[in-house]
Amino acid sequence: MRIEQDTKLDFKDVLIRPKRSTLRSRKDVDVSRDFTFKWSGKSFSGVPIIAANMDGVGTLAMAEAFVQDGNGLSVALHKHYPLKDVQSFYKKNGSDSVWYSIGMVEADWDKLQEFIAAGQMPDKVCIDVANGYSEHFVDFVKRARERMPETTIMAGNVVTGEMVEQLILGGVDVVKVGIGPGSVCTTRKMTGVGYPQLSAIIECADAAHGLGGLICGDGGCTVPGDIAKAFAAGADFVMLGGMLAGHDQAEQKIVKDGGEKFLQFYGMSSDTAMKKHKGGVAEYRASEGKTVKIPYRGDVSGSLQDILGGIRSTCTYVGAQRLKDLSKCTTFVRVTQQINNIFS
Ligand code: 5GP
Repeated sequence: MRIEQDTKLDFKDVLIRPKRSTLRSRKDVDVSRDFTFKWSGKSFSGVPIIAANMDGVGTLAMAEAFVQDGNGLSVALHKHYPLKDVQSFYKKNGSDSVWYSIGMVEADWDKLQEFIAAGQMPDKVCIDVANGYSEHFVDFVKRARERMPETTIMAGNVVTGEMVEQLILGGVDVVKVGIGPGSVCTTRKMTGVGYPQLSAIIECADAAHGLGGLICGDGGCTVPGDIAKAFAAGADFVMLGGMLAGHDQAEQKIVKDGGEKFLQFYGMSSDTAMKKHKGGVAEYRASEGKTVKIPYRGDVSGSLQDILGGIRSTCTYVGAQRLKDLSKCTTFVRVTQQINNIFS
């Protein structure tokens, strides 16, 4: 056993120090990014925010809304849609706004092969497992790269530089970073495993960028300022679950309780998800998730406006005209001195 003495930080442990700026207004800030992916060679242009592949968030309705919105946000579709629904979405809207998601189970792989065999090679795929540290996962990613040489592959989750390097060298374009920070995740409680998300992003971005790869900070953002901190720390993409839950696009029943409207939101490893999709048997995630009731928040466009407005404002505070410049314009200041209570 050994203990790492370096302090690792979460979003709540820092603030971004304001700097002199020549920007006059938030309108002058460009919050989109342009990337060319290392392995697929494909390019991306748009706001690098991705709706998480969760029930109520990674929905086809959310993807439709993003297409209408036109900002270039994208959705990692949850993996439980019948193939025909996904196919008709691609036929109608193209693939710019969606990542086709799979886990490591053979059924997901077979469904993907069926998709490809029917004439549609998804141009962006998200391979999502709770623990990206297994040898089996690395082999799976290599197999996916061989099968889909021109597809942009995002895969994870991991939280340390050496694993980011291994995945990028194995064919991943975007490594998904985050173990334990999710709003409905109970991994830290159930297993004691995790890594403070801001430090994970800083360290993993450094590892990925050195190899021409990218990272997606996944989980732990609860307010627009957290998303800005994730980009400032070096995340190329940011994935959101809870912040995009509770909207009309959730494809879920809205329940009334004491005059207020609510929606259910749950982790994809929670009992609720397992019951819904697997008849109660936990299969693809080792860790657990919880189920919460969140207030109904109307159409997602209102939340998007808050999110993008917040990020634009961050950029004006530090003099970054483009989101691309935010990281190099950022100085974080520590605002907590003590070890945080991870169970709060
Ligand atoms: P949020 O934005 O809600 O804080 O985090 C979203 C992320 O939480 C997802 O993208 C996914 O990585 C993670 N997540 C979703 N469901 C579960 C779950 O049941 N257990 C765990 N450990 N993580 C989850």
